[in-house]
Amino acid sequence: MSKTAELRPNERTVDLAPATDATLRFIGTIRTPWTDREDCPRQGRLDGPECQLVLDPIWRDGLLGLDEYETIEVLYWLDKSRRDLIRQSPKSDGRTVGTFALRSPVRPNPIGTSMVKLLRIENGTLHVQGLDCLDGTPLIDIKPDRCAFTPKAPPKPGDRQVSS
Ligand code: SAM
Repeated sequence: MSKTAELRPNERTVDLAPATDATLRFIGTIRTPWTDREDCPRQGRLDGPECQLVLDPIWRDGLLGLDEYETIEVLYWLDKSRRDLIRQSPKSDGRTVGTFALRSPVRPNPIGTSMVKLLRIENGTLHVQGLDCLDGTPLIDIKPDRCAFTPKAPPKPGDRQVSS
């Protein structure tokens, strides 16, 4: 992707060396109705179109127990994003905001997260509502809704620690 083509007035970039410091394993692919970023919602909605998380077969056993949850958290790699913008102009009006004050897909590590409604699981494919990404977006991780989740492991002292 061209580094200069998409800059809006007053947006700023940083110079980046090629990223080599971490390796993610994509665990599957997300299927959605959207093939163009302009058509994608900015944030998914729980009554949005049904989408699928197609898990690579080796990870299927990792779904055991997930069907207890109505809502799950999905992490995905917004692979078509540039990664060097530090100030962005969401309204293209010359006014800018820091990248970390936005949920823009353009960020150093373009991780997207959504809380989605889990409709059903069939043969390693999760049918969900609530996504906002392009068809073919790589899937990074799936977790139960943190509000509904009670840790299965024994408590640790830090769990009860409060500010002094
Ligand atoms: N819900 C996530 C979050 O808050 O972390 C992502 C929000 S981001 C604003 C959603 C937008 O990212 C979409 O409207 C689309 O413009 C863009 N997008 C979706 N899939 C993408 C992809 N694979 N690569 C780059 N941009 C993508």
